[in-house]
Amino acid sequence: MLVNMKDMLAQARAEKRAIGAFNVANYETALAVFKAAEAEKSPVIVQLYMRLFDTGKARDLAPTLRGLAERATVPVALHLDHGSTEKQAEDALAWGYTSVMFDGSRLPYAENAARTKAVADRAHAAGATCEGEIGHVAMGDGTALTDVAEAAAFGKETGVDALAVSIGTAHGYYKAEPKLDIPRCAAIAEALPGVPLVLHGGSGTPLADVRRAIECGIAKVNIATEFLDTYIKTTLKVFGDLNGGFVPPDKLADPIVDACAAHVARLIRFFAGR
Ligand SMILES: [Zn+2]
Repeated sequence: MLVNMKDMLAQARAEKRAIGAFNVANYETALAVFKAAEAEKSPVIVQLYMRLFDTGKARDLAPTLRGLAERATVPVALHLDHGSTEKQAEDALAWGYTSVMFDGSRLPYAENAARTKAVADRAHAAGATCEGEIGHVAMGDGTALTDVAEAAAFGKETGVDALAVSIGTAHGYYKAEPKLDIPRCAAIAEALPGVPLVLHGGSGTPLADVRRAIECGIAKVNIATEFLDTYIKTTLKVFGDLNGGFVPPDKLADPIVDACAAHVARLIRFFAGR
């Protein structure tokens, strides 16, 4: 069923579990996430990076994703990841996405809070949920760890349904193993007992650290790089094995989808503590 993130994250946080949020970029990667969630009987978040909202790909994929979610036997939220403009959030809601992120983490505090609150109000009016970010999880630039008092104020001021925090992860693959600031995570969670926290930069973070973060209030773990990399590596192998032969593209995609679904299923089980 197509839902927003509210109930699945609240329940996960209460039970010290996390919901996997997987970045998809086309039909095959999306299908893999739906298949894995149904096989694991687990709620899931299917998210698209903001770039796909600017190029129109998120609009074109929306009817397919909504159909898959409505027919799914598990709750599925469709989410805009790292929305950077109000227009992306507006478009997402108009196209039937049930959740939006406004990432103002590089803006001054007051501007981040004001713009996030406006997007959250707009999302709530449409029956959708909103994720904000305070502190900055690096994407090739400087990380700023989340300040506990600032996070507490931000959560209360904006009314976000989920809050991305910076506790030592980074986007993309790591050059050196990250060290997560678990006490910081626990302190933020204690200051915001009703707000599920979000871990960005999940790819390649040591799983033992992810587990400790989940025990300290992280209820949504974002996975993009390692999942999409599985898609690329499997695609290379399948296309290489074809060796000049012919297979209809939909059949060619089946083993790629299966490999991606197996990857997602492993992570869903881990985030659920199974
Ligand atoms: Zn992120």
